[in-house]
Amino acid sequence: MKGLIFNIKRYAIHDGPGIRVTFFMKGCPLACWWCHNPEGISSGIQEIDRTDRIGSKEFTVKETVGKYYSSNELLDIAKKDLVFIEESGGGITFSGGEPLVQPDFLLESLKVFRNEGLHTTIDTSGFADREVIDSILPYTELFLFDIKHMDPGKHKHYTGVSNSLILDNYKYIIGKGKKVVIRIPVIPGINDGEEEIRAFRDFIDAEAGGNVSRIDLLAYHKIGSSKYKRFKLDYKMQGVEQPSSERMNELKRYFEESGINVKIGG
Ligand code: SF4
Repeated sequence: MKGLIFNIKRYAIHDGPGIRVTFFMKGCPLACWWCHNPEGISSGIQEIDRTDRIGSKEFTVKETVGKYYSSNELLDIAKKDLVFIEESGGGITFSGGEPLVQPDFLLESLKVFRNEGLHTTIDTSGFADREVIDSILPYTELFLFDIKHMDPGKHKHYTGVSNSLILDNYKYIIGKGKKVVIRIPVIPGINDGEEEIRAFRDFIDAEAGGNVSRIDLLAYHKIGSSKYKRFKLDYKMQGVEQPSSERMNELKRYFEESGINVKIGG
């Protein structure tokens, strides 16, 4: 069996504890307006034109985005960094895109890594069938679980899907006693108003917040915006500015009132 990966990040330090190898899997059922990995949304291999510049000269090269790997090939890649992973208490992270859209390959890979005693993390939007969640639960030690908006209509508007399945899956995973880090992307004008922020905290407080190891507040940034043109996608976030560090700190203090450790950034 093979899985489609569009990026592999070695020495990753923001995708779970310690130093990690992060595999970015292709395909996502959401299409968030602010996504900074739009190359992860399509579930197939893509051929794109990439414009590079050397000095004043601009040139275009063809690039293939996405490559198939077997689980053992991923293991071989990760093993190159084994000493750093072990020394730092790190592991492996599956991100994307949405890793749960390749459930069979993900499950096989998780088993391969757990067999080697490696810590496994899944960075997920939470939008997946319950059977998929059930299958990977025993082999996943940490979930980085995105909660993007508490209002179902606004969630659908900005991501393409309602949040009901996502919130149900969050409750289910928490109920199973799994370690969860909640990730909230802070998107000015979309989910950072007083009412929206209060709704996030009320939900976290009500739904076993005590089992959440941390809340990560991820400030919106424009780093991925240039990719949209390359992938012939519409970038709808023109004119939206990054939240200030004062605002991020204010939000951090607000969420800390829940008694949960809060971090700005991943
Ligand atoms: S869930 Fe993540 S990968 Fe998918 S579109 Fe949204 S931000 Fe991008």
